[in-house]
Amino acid sequence: MESMFSNLSDEDLAFKAEVDEFMLSEVAPYVNDIDQGKKEIWDVIRPMGQNGLLGITFPKKFGGRSGSFTQELLMTEAVCYHSLPVDMSRSASIYPAMMIRMFGKSKVLRKYIDPLIKGEKIGCFCFTEPDAGSDLSRMKSIFMKDKANDEFTLTGEKRFITNGSVADTLVVYGRNGAFIVQNDWDGFEVIEEYQMMGLHGLHLGHIKFTNVRIPKENALFYKEIKPSTEVRKTSAISSMQAMLGPERIVVSVEALAVARRALEVAIQYSTERVQFKRPISEFEGINFKVAEMVSNYEAGKALLEKSIGKMEDGFLAAMAKLFVCTNAFKICDEAIQILGGIGYTNKYPVERCARDVRLLRIGAGTDEIMKYIIQKGVYKSINK
Ligand SMILES: Cc1cc2nc3c(=O)[nH]c(=O)nc-3n(C[C@H](O)[C@H](O)[C@H](O)COP(=O)(O)OP(=O)(O)OC[C@H]3O[C@@H](n4cnc5c(N)ncnc54)[C@H](O)[C@@H]3O)c2cc1C
Repeated sequence: MESMFSNLSDEDLAFKAEVDEFMLSEVAPYVNDIDQGKKEIWDVIRPMGQNGLLGITFPKKFGGRSGSFTQELLMTEAVCYHSLPVDMSRSASIYPAMMIRMFGKSKVLRKYIDPLIKGEKIGCFCFTEPDAGSDLSRMKSIFMKDKANDEFTLTGEKRFITNGSVADTLVVYGRNGAFIVQNDWDGFEVIEEYQMMGLHGLHLGHIKFTNVRIPKENALFYKEIKPSTEVRKTSAISSMQAMLGPERIVVSVEALAVARRALEVAIQYSTERVQFKRPISEFEGINFKVAEMVSNYEAGKALLEKSIGKMEDGFLAAMAKLFVCTNAFKICDEAIQILGGIGYTNKYPVERCARDVRLLRIGAGTDEIMKYIIQKGVYKSINK
């Protein structure tokens, strides 16, 4: 199977060759150990920072490469082909740096961005709360201005946060703003690290903030609100929603890369495994599955390409995420079926791919929320 990206410039091709080689030597050998809890995931991500692979789109003054968004997507594809949890941990650490770069005060940019993109510090971004998942207007976390000390305090809880239990630098959204928070400040606490069906090695945290004091220069957004103010109307929520379209494109690239890995393994295996005196690829029961898997992979790729071409279009991004992520899981599940019993063991990566990719129907907006966005777009255009 080919990479999902074609028509690359010479510069992009050289970049792709560099990251493919890096992944083969520095990530692939450790993927099973990460899945089995024998190797710390950040031990393979940190060297990416040391080799300039974390801050791809960041300007050189922050230690980045001034690369393109295409290169960031090539990196996503290359990492996910080997390991989705490695890529999710990597990108969750870079999102805060992106938000700080866009909305942070100049005084704190270097302080927080440089260590994140060098891999010296770990980042996370925090929206989800126990009572606020798909419906972020239910967020309770709140920032209070302490006029006497000219600083702010944060009180609240966040759960299901990628890197949450190990992050040094947290971008935390609340009812009335978003701030940069450090894990070494008084009042920060890790309540739990979740065990998951897949994505082993990824540190998924439930964290709590009790009157955490934050200097005013760490504000990304702040608005004094009355307790009755609808949270959807704040600028913090609008900025978060603006990030969600591109994030859904990245998630679709992740899903497609995992699906490609499973597809390649299944196709190869079907030509080698002999039963009833024939390679199983000669049975219609198997080769028709492959036909459907490849068609869904290619259809997802086409929809994703269209969506990448119109980054600001949240409707297209939702369609791409829904189609690609549901089909990526189906492809991985069918890959297990093609491999039979050995597919259910960890001798081949297909069972890991299925366990890992299942999350992408939930994270960054569930299938149901994608359908909600799509139908809204359909009826809006009809009722114009
Ligand atoms: C591994 C992992 C990593 C994550 N990383 C992060 C992170 O780094 N930062 C962060 O902030 N969050 C993160 N999340 C949280 C993730 O974004 C949420 O889990 C997701 O948005 C869904 O919220 P919820 O789990 O509370 O489900 P809920 O919103 O409670 O949904 C439960 C069910 O109800 C359905 N539902 C809800 N509303 C509607 C509706 N209007 N119509 C139809 N169906 C509906 C949902 O689709 C779902 O099927 C992560 C989650 C996981 C599991």
